[in-house]
Amino acid sequence: MGNHFLDTKIEFLKGVGPKRAEMLRKELGISTYRQLLLHYPFRYIDKSQVFKIADINSEEIHIQLRGKVVELKTMGEKRGKRLVATLKDETGEIELVWFKGIKWLASSITIGKEYVVYGKPSAYNHRYNIAHPDIDLLDNALIANQVTLEAVYATTEILTRMSLNAKGIHKILKNLVLQLTNKIQETLPIYIIEELKLVDKERAMINVHAPENEYLLQKSRYRLKFEELFYLQLNMLRQKGIKKEVIKGAVFNRVGPNFNQFYSEKLPFDLTGAQKRVLKEIRDDVGYGDHMNRLLQGDVGSGKTIVALMSILIAIDNGYQACLMAPTEILANQHFEGITELIEGMGLNVQLLTGSVKTKKRREIHEQLENGELHILIGTHALIEDKVKFKNLGFVVIDEQHRFGVQQRSKLWRKGTLGANGKLIPPHILVMTATPIPRTLAMTFYGDLDVSVIDELPPGRKEIKTIHRFDSARIKIFAFIEEEIKKGRQVYVVYPLIQESEKLDYKDLMDGYESIERRFPKPNYQISIVHGQMKAADKEFEMQRFVKGETQIMVATTVIEVGVNIPNASVMVIESAERFGLSQLHQLRGRVGRGAEQSFCVLMTGNKLSADSKLRMKTMVRTNDGFELSEVDLKLRGPGDIQGTQQSGLLDLKIADLVRDAQIVQYARDMAIKVLKEDPNLELDKHHRLVSTLKQLFGSKINWSRIS
Ligand code: ADP
Ligand code: MG
Repeated sequence: MGNHFLDTKIEFLKGVGPKRAEMLRKELGISTYRQLLLHYPFRYIDKSQVFKIADINSEEIHIQLRGKVVELKTMGEKRGKRLVATLKDETGEIELVWFKGIKWLASSITIGKEYVVYGKPSAYNHRYNIAHPDIDLLDNALIANQVTLEAVYATTEILTRMSLNAKGIHKILKNLVLQLTNKIQETLPIYIIEELKLVDKERAMINVHAPENEYLLQKSRYRLKFEELFYLQLNMLRQKGIKKEVIKGAVFNRVGPNFNQFYSEKLPFDLTGAQKRVLKEIRDDVGYGDHMNRLLQGDVGSGKTIVALMSILIAIDNGYQACLMAPTEILANQHFEGITELIEGMGLNVQLLTGSVKTKKRREIHEQLENGELHILIGTHALIEDKVKFKNLGFVVIDEQHRFGVQQRSKLWRKGTLGANGKLIPPHILVMTATPIPRTLAMTFYGDLDVSVIDELPPGRKEIKTIHRFDSARIKIFAFIEEEIKKGRQVYVVYPLIQESEKLDYKDLMDGYESIERRFPKPNYQISIVHGQMKAADKEFEMQRFVKGETQIMVATTVIEVGVNIPNASVMVIESAERFGLSQLHQLRGRVGRGAEQSFCVLMTGNKLSADSKLRMKTMVRTNDGFELSEVDLKLRGPGDIQGTQQSGLLDLKIADLVRDAQIVQYARDMAIKVLKEDPNLELDKHHRLVSTLKQLFGSKINWSRIS
């Protein structure tokens, strides 16, 4: 399906040429007409609406103003240096502020001339100003706009220097769009277009870059979003279907002595209904030779570990080895100790493999793995090293999976055993996460995984009480901590650590530690401290002191975030809480509330909070429900920042937005399912466009043998 026009090299487009073409390729990955067309605008300026300065009353929206620049001055020094222009219309004045590109702007803005300005107001000292607005001479703006909706494009600093700023990109795209008549082939089957009343592809493409009117723009965007999501779903569902048929997993057809002994003699509590249900889901997968690739979601403390362990025991009962991978040494250690204790006396060989295991011990582990003496290997990503070879790995558990990428999953996959026919039998894979993923994301990102959910906490847990306090209330919080310690409880105080400002954060942590030490002096109080700059052995030592109850307060950075289980800890103080994302706050909060006592989470913040931060604090105080939190999180941050999506390719979405377009995700998925139900191999005539488009989109990554 050659489409020569769209494959034309970008340098041949009017207004581009070889130099700019090279830069477009380097900066934005655009080298053909097709790729340029996929550089969709990220917003549109409505040039028909002009706001009056006196009417500005919110920080919510982008607005367009029209007025005279009456004053222009450069202020401040160094980092604070800025250009301030005063814009005046018949109703009032507003300041426009730029921190970047000052020199160029200062020389191109003329006092006394009329400008069109576009940007988002922000309130400062009870007055509004606009930082980094777009500004254009009124005359230019009028000439450029026979249409009222103008597309705005993303660009980069380097491109801007080659006069490919947002406007420049707009210009070259216009040159391309002008040539688009009978150049773009339809990519969806006619019957789908008719059923959903979609705009045709070419019309949609033209209108998205050069909208004729608002109505057509919306229809066009809808069409392109639908198409993008539809093909994503179609591809994924097809692969999933094919995998299910083709890939066989090890068969665990019996539940044997290990599982039974554990269940009747060792299990220290009754399983919750949700745990039982998930175990059954897993057994149904592994019992009949299907290959299992399952995501287990369950809020912190919901008891995922025991489900993993019991699945592992089934694997061992069927003659296979198992491994469990955790993202940090601390967590791997804790799993190792917990599991060793749980299965004590059952005669199973469990070992721990992390970066700090000594060479000699390591060799011993490698040997036992290969000769089959070792039943369960627990560790960090040290597990995926090539040197680690199993005799017959049948079951893999990956804990807190958002810390690992798809790559790690597939490396473990390849450590499976060889079947009689010489084919790889991959181990069954159970990935566990306490960061619940909203439905639209799960449908897309984890389309290749089956999902189980533990939606019930073990009995007797008390809801964690969460409060938000400003730094000024610290004295009261210290008093509260003292009371809790007097009752015999333990307390976490957590500081943010963000790589970019590591030094400053480290100082915050140390300052915090000192002030806590002053307020809670030895010998009455003992304090542990754990942070990323310590050696693993020291971390472990400090951690153990806290686990054993020798220290009452644990001051730490987020290394304690995942999985750590200390039931006696009942207070979690999170410093600079405004700097954490919701899912991280929720994870941290999950460190307490694991025992029978009432637990507390205290969110400490500065007095001045952004609207987003306020909403995050409010949401944390309002709910303990991880799914609810993740929905808010997704709305606030978009999927790009949700842990785990980075590797998923979801960020490659060109026009659809998994948050705002959740409904379209659903429609697209429904349609993809309908298509595949009717025509699993896409062999029908009416589906020929689907095959060619899938090939064009995902060509190299797909096994096409079953289709063409
Ligand atoms: P997470 O899902 O966060 O990994 P864990 O598996 O660490 O949670 O379990 C948290 C705590 O709850 C552990 O101390 C575990 O022993 C306990 N637990 C798990 N299941 C149950 C249950 N059914 N009844 C009581 N306690 C349970
Ligand atoms: Mg856990």
